[in-house]
Amino acid sequence: MTATPLVALRGIERSFGVGTGRVDALRGIDLEVAEGEYVAILGPSGSGKSTLMQIIGCLDVPTAGSYRYGGKEVHDLSDRELTRLRNEEIGFVFQSFHLLKDRNAIENVRLPLDYRSSDTDGRTPLDPRTVLERVGLGARLTHRPGQLSGGEQQRVAIARALVRSPRLMICDEPTGNLDTERGLEILELLDSIHRDGGATILLVTHDKAVADRAQRVVTLVDGQWAQ
Ligand code: ADP
Repeated sequence: MTATPLVALRGIERSFGVGTGRVDALRGIDLEVAEGEYVAILGPSGSGKSTLMQIIGCLDVPTAGSYRYGGKEVHDLSDRELTRLRNEEIGFVFQSFHLLKDRNAIENVRLPLDYRSSDTDGRTPLDPRTVLERVGLGARLTHRPGQLSGGEQQRVAIARALVRSPRLMICDEPTGNLDTERGLEILELLDSIHRDGGATILLVTHDKAVADRAQRVVTLVDGQWAQ
């Protein structure tokens, strides 16, 4: 028996109306990601990577096609189930960190815990301090983003994604704002999170060297998989 994939996309399309015209950002995407996999989605700017990540992260809905998360059709989930999925199962890491500037590291990492539902089936959150230590910032707990380097800010953002103990981590160009060396450190951190069985990781990038860190690379061109 094969295990149910964590993410299963079939025939996913996403179009945007622009003026009187239409942009077909995704044109029939199939993808299966098993629980515990580390997959990179590689593609040039404009190929549809962010649109695909928004759909997989349940922040956007496809125009057509089927998306099953953990075997359940996302389209059929109630608002409450969808909120729980977004808040507790999926962690996001973005290119530009998205930290609150007036909060220190530990406060930024604690933030997602305020949005947890009180459902008993929720995943067990981790201690913010322990997670910051895990990403190498044990000595920076009370620093605000402005007092941290880019690499350290991205570590805070990774800790914020990890604190809810997510099943799926979506990392959208996580090294895009970092120099090569800091970028490599972040990729090593993602490797170790994956190795420790921390999460299924989906990494989005335009950079082949970054994508090659993953177990599997799929390439997007003009909203379709490259042949
Ligand atoms: P990538 O992340 O690979 O750079 P995107 O997913 O951002 O690509 O964009 C794919 C295509 O869809 C582009 O042509 C982009 O201009 C278009 N697009 C994305 N979002 C929107 C939107 N909200 N409205 C109109 N067009 C969009």
